[in-house]
Amino acid sequence: MSNDVQGQQVLFEGMDRFCGPLHQSDIGMMLRCRRALLYRYKLGLRPKSDLRAGAAGLGQMFHKIVQYGPGGIEFAKKWVQDQQKILWELVEKGEDVDGSIAGAVKAMTDHYNKAMAIAQLYWERYPDPEYLETLATEVHVEGDVEICGNKVTVAGTIDKVVRDKRDGRLWVRDWKTSSRDMNYIMTGYQWSIQCRMYRLLAWLWAKQNEIENPEPLGFIVDGVRMPTIKYCKKDVDFAAYIERCKQWYKDNLIDAFTSRAIRYQEPMLSDIFMSSLVDAAYTQKDTALELWQYPKDMTASYCTNYDRQCTYYGLCEVDQCQWPDIIERQFKVVEPTDNVNTETGEVNE
Ligand code: SF4
Repeated sequence: MSNDVQGQQVLFEGMDRFCGPLHQSDIGMMLRCRRALLYRYKLGLRPKSDLRAGAAGLGQMFHKIVQYGPGGIEFAKKWVQDQQKILWELVEKGEDVDGSIAGAVKAMTDHYNKAMAIAQLYWERYPDPEYLETLATEVHVEGDVEICGNKVTVAGTIDKVVRDKRDGRLWVRDWKTSSRDMNYIMTGYQWSIQCRMYRLLAWLWAKQNEIENPEPLGFIVDGVRMPTIKYCKKDVDFAAYIERCKQWYKDNLIDAFTSRAIRYQEPMLSDIFMSSLVDAAYTQKDTALELWQYPKDMTASYCTNYDRQCTYYGLCEVDQCQWPDIIERQFKVVEPTDNVNTETGEVNE
């Protein structure tokens, strides 16, 4: 046994090792950089700064408002205020060393206003068609899938499961919010891990709830392009801000919404998806944590994903003997949960 391996065992001694359900973000990470998966999923390392700035982003806010619907605006408002209150208590306890928490509280108000304006436009333009019945909204699903003798536990939250009353078939409905071009955001969505996982989760949910015809027929993606203008003193009231947003879309020749329904073209457990799930099953069971099984991304492309340096770069560039020190200063150990950036549909890094 090499010194490295001995060192690694000493390091992992006393550290939590998670074996919880796998989310689509974990599987995505597994395919792109196994080392990042070790840090995040198996060891549960999250930067302390991330935890402090745990405020809901624009995409999450929009999801929440639409989830409550036109009749639930007060609930959505309270949800935001409750989150702000928790963050504000941290400021009052003196934990806002760099002002980021106060900044996050303010940003939440801006995001809420923007998300609310766009939700109003959406409800005005796309009332739910009469033939679509919503069976579940923002539903958290967890379940087991058996693949080639391997059990893998998967989990995640689906935006919506709807039923077409005309033929009784299920569809997965998903929001994508972004300030970028929706065509670009949706490129490849149909064969992405997210899309495949939602299909699987919707099927598990339907079976758990004894829904007839549990396998979804396809998915509906509602792309929402967010304006870059904020509610401010220029607007005499909120209605004026909504009008200004409408004008912004016109001036920029941008359509605020893109809705697409696409039928699945491949089996739910396609060969490519199954191979990822089998790989995930082994990862889920792994408690030995041999470092060689979690190699760094040799292409280094994931190290600078979205033009940002990877959260774990500091751990990757030093010898493992320095990890305890860095982890103590920069990270907290938390049980990993679904951690998807709702702006891009991609994993937050
Ligand atoms: S720095 Fe690169 S190799 Fe290291 S965990 Fe991040 S993506 Fe992987």
